[in-house]
Amino acid sequence: MNIVFLGPPGAGKGTHAQRLMKEMNIPQISTGDMFRRAIREQTPTGMDAKRYMDKGELVPDEVVVAMVKERLAEPDCANGYILDGFPRTVAQAEALDTIAHIDVALNIDVPDEIIINRLSGRRVCAACGGTFHVSLLKGDKCPECGGELFQRDDDKPATVKNRLDVYQEKTAPLIDYYAKKGILSTAKCADGGVDENYALVKAALNAKA
Ligand code: ADP
Ligand code: ZN
Repeated sequence: MNIVFLGPPGAGKGTHAQRLMKEMNIPQISTGDMFRRAIREQTPTGMDAKRYMDKGELVPDEVVVAMVKERLAEPDCANGYILDGFPRTVAQAEALDTIAHIDVALNIDVPDEIIINRLSGRRVCAACGGTFHVSLLKGDKCPECGGELFQRDDDKPATVKNRLDVYQEKTAPLIDYYAKKGILSTAKCADGGVDENYALVKAALNAKA
């Protein structure tokens, strides 16, 4: 099954997509993670993307589409995949429709106040990539592996605001785009725990699968 995850930054797309990946045994494809890796490895795509990401802007469609196209051609995508963070614009969704058949678009709906609190409190482990909220941390090291924790540049307050504005303007129209195709399913997540919200995501998926 080919699944697209929709939702504002900080909605929990990555967390839920990772669980679903393990359960369904299909890859999670996160364009944000791919760009962050490319930046670490200092590839041309990474250097190009960084200029946009640090400001909370979207990387140009051509760059993202080319990267996703290459990734979807890899053998592990043959039995399905979860796209997390792509498409982010109507142009990307149209490009995706020319290279793949999407079965379900899962929209993770979370109120703005929750998003802002989550993103500004998010810390990432430099060693294992795990993400944690400051309110749940005891010290300043990763609770999973002891690695150093840091705040993503784009989780700083001014950039968070910009990412939410960009989401409303560029990405929210995709909700309609997939609704018109009849493949949209929405999970209304609230301030419950991860398990509770994941159950809502699974229910939304099963409603369309
Ligand atoms: P989040 O969902 O938490 O905002 P991501 O890790 O998905 O973060 O993306 C981080 C940044 O990477 C985005 O703000 C954007 O600059 C860039 N990016 C990721 N995916 C895309 C995409 N599909 N189109 C354009 N830019 C993207
Ligand atoms: Zn760690």
